[in-house]
Amino acid sequence: MPICVGVTKERLPQERRVALVPEIAKRLKSFGVTIVMETGAGQTAGFLDQHYQEQSVKIVETASAVYQQANLILTVNAPSSEQINLMTSDTVLIGFMSPHRDPDRIRLLQTRSITSFAMELIPRISRAQSMDALSSQAAVAGYKAVIMAADLAMVFFPMLTTAAGTIRPAKALIIGAGVAGLQAIATARRLGAMVEGYDVRAATKEQVESLGAKFIDMPIRAEGQGGYARELTAEERQQQQEILAKHVAAANVVITTAAIPGRPSPKIITQNMVERMASGSVIVDLAAEGGGNCELSQAGNTIQHRGVVIHAPLNVPSQTPLHASEMYSRNLFNLLSLMLNKTGELTLDWSDEVINSSCLTTAGEIKHAPTRTMVEGAKS
Ligand code: NAD
Repeated sequence: MPICVGVTKERLPQERRVALVPEIAKRLKSFGVTIVMETGAGQTAGFLDQHYQEQSVKIVETASAVYQQANLILTVNAPSSEQINLMTSDTVLIGFMSPHRDPDRIRLLQTRSITSFAMELIPRISRAQSMDALSSQAAVAGYKAVIMAADLAMVFFPMLTTAAGTIRPAKALIIGAGVAGLQAIATARRLGAMVEGYDVRAATKEQVESLGAKFIDMPIRAEGQGGYARELTAEERQQQQEILAKHVAAANVVITTAAIPGRPSPKIITQNMVERMASGSVIVDLAAEGGGNCELSQAGNTIQHRGVVIHAPLNVPSQTPLHASEMYSRNLFNLLSLMLNKTGELTLDWSDEVINSSCLTTAGEIKHAPTRTMVEGAKS
């Protein structure tokens, strides 16, 4: 069956990204597919309808017109139930699907026989790095967190030698040195701050140091499965807090990015640690979506506690929408390259680990076992 790719405006409030950018529309066209988009879909990311029309994308007035014409839908966020109900039952849907949230939506995808692929489920193997949207969007968040911190801070990041005297560089502490944390370290270094980095995985020491930051070494080693961290024991947490407290107290800026897959964000910065920070210091908590790494963080809000600013933004990649969309769109294209043959038809090779692992629902089944268990549990 010839493929018509469809993209609508994102419906979540504050979402500025778009799943398809004009550069990727052009590359997709080389597969012989047609593309239909809702008018204004790229506007909040800086791409106008005319940029898409230049790539022979058909622009239509409504999302329902997209769903009527397209059989392959690309999205950033999981569509709502209303949107899913407008799709035809043979639709293939690809995007962030939040498989651990909203069992009703997953059940609807199942009962509507929609074949959905969740970008969160792309395996983190070397071959799939170019499709890894968790990484691309985490890198955007890590960069933006530093820009936010620099904006909120009462100090310069770089050392300045001026006629009015010498200004010392800011001290930045980055907790969690995964994809977002390493990008935050690199960005804070580029802005001229003195940077310390910390993570519970031993492998990060070399990565942190290679970016010119100082690694805070502790005896705690908490490698978990698949290259991720495991949860700390109560004693380890206590030990971590004792060592980290003095580094937090000395920092002008703390950026936290620590996460454990499938678990709430570990609480690393306590109220007591915040109270030891100098007034005017800033914490940017990138883990707010999972409950935050700072005890005082309020997801989606900026608060002050004894003069310390605690900023806990949500959906940070959306705040650098053009590049975040470009990176995400390339991730989608690289995944689609595994699915489309030379004549623009979809051929799903279920023996391919990437295709098999990232599929959430197909032919009335929930393929992803943990999601299936969650949906069945929610029913009973
Ligand atoms: P993540 O977002 O799950 O976590 C962020 C960081 O927080 C991790 O580095 C983790 O070790 C750290 N952390 C967790 N609990 C902590 C605590 N209590 N104190 C301090 N730090 C804590 O992780 P991520 O950035 O998505 O990726 C983590 C790992 O996966 C990295 O090793 C990365 O290189 C690897 N990875 C591999 C691939 C691939 O091979 N395709 C792709 C992406 C990431």
